[in-house]
Amino acid sequence: MLFTNNPTPIVYLDTINGKKIYIKQDYLNHLTVSGNKLRKLKYNLLLAQKSGATLISFGGAYSNHIAALASAGNVLNLPTVGIIRGQELADKSRWGHTLKTASDNEMQLHFVSRSVYREKDFPDTSPEIQQIINQYPNTTVIPEGGSNKLSVFGSAEIIAECEQQGDFDRLFCACGTGGTLAGLIDGVAKQSPMSQYHLIGIPVLKGHTGLADDICQLSQHHKEVNWQLNHNYHFGGYAKTTNELKEFIIDFENKYKIPIDPIYTAKLCYAVFDLARKNTDSLSENWLIYHSGGLQGIAK
Ligand SMILES: *Cc1c(COP(=O)(O)O)cnc(C)c1O
Repeated sequence: MLFTNNPTPIVYLDTINGKKIYIKQDYLNHLTVSGNKLRKLKYNLLLAQKSGATLISFGGAYSNHIAALASAGNVLNLPTVGIIRGQELADKSRWGHTLKTASDNEMQLHFVSRSVYREKDFPDTSPEIQQIINQYPNTTVIPEGGSNKLSVFGSAEIIAECEQQGDFDRLFCACGTGGTLAGLIDGVAKQSPMSQYHLIGIPVLKGHTGLADDICQLSQHHKEVNWQLNHNYHFGGYAKTTNELKEFIIDFENKYKIPIDPIYTAKLCYAVFDLARKNTDSLSENWLIYHSGGLQGIAK
């Protein structure tokens, strides 16, 4: 079953400078469509079930969103199409875990050059992308990363769950496109407009200056909620890493027995522990890390 009403666990990790740090293990929400990508797809999938549309989306060779869409389509028996960056990947021997699994889940894959892929945000004006979309009747195009208005409703539900599970002062999440954070913002506004929740996004892309504007586009309630971005933990940029981050992952997994991925959740967890260590306000607070998944990306 893809959608249940069982909340994913929240477990205690550590206390640093009076900050009790917890983690919401949302990667446990489904075996294969895991983490925030399932939250974001939920209402897109429910709508497609009604309309019978083929769901088309975009991603790179390791995209968690492509993996989730293919797998959800397979579970719900909905046709899915992936437009993938890199023509060289038409050669199956170059496929990694993500593309192999997407194909096993009956996603139709189309490989485009990097220059065509760059037109993904305006598919209507790209003849090459149109030509792919037109091969399918009745289509719904979901943006790269899955962030659209419907995705925001899905991620907003994370807050309703957290509120049943405890009292938290701050909630931290990793940001790619910002769709997840936009949903958390709307969730806080809906659940408890006067809530103490302070939301902090950790962007994993370097110099992602348009991110705050993108979040404001997606979130209806961004003016009512206390939220911010902390751009200090991208570790050099998307999918970049450092020895320090690699060591952090090993130590974290040994100590807490919770897997994290190097692209999103390791940077997030590093940021939260670092901010707690550097904190000087001497307040006792409960901090919550939103573990958004991404573990398929490290599968072999
Ligand atoms: C895609 C992804 C994110 C980023 O989500 P956005 O909604 O694009 O900001 C964070 N964590 C994981 C594990 C992801 O796969």
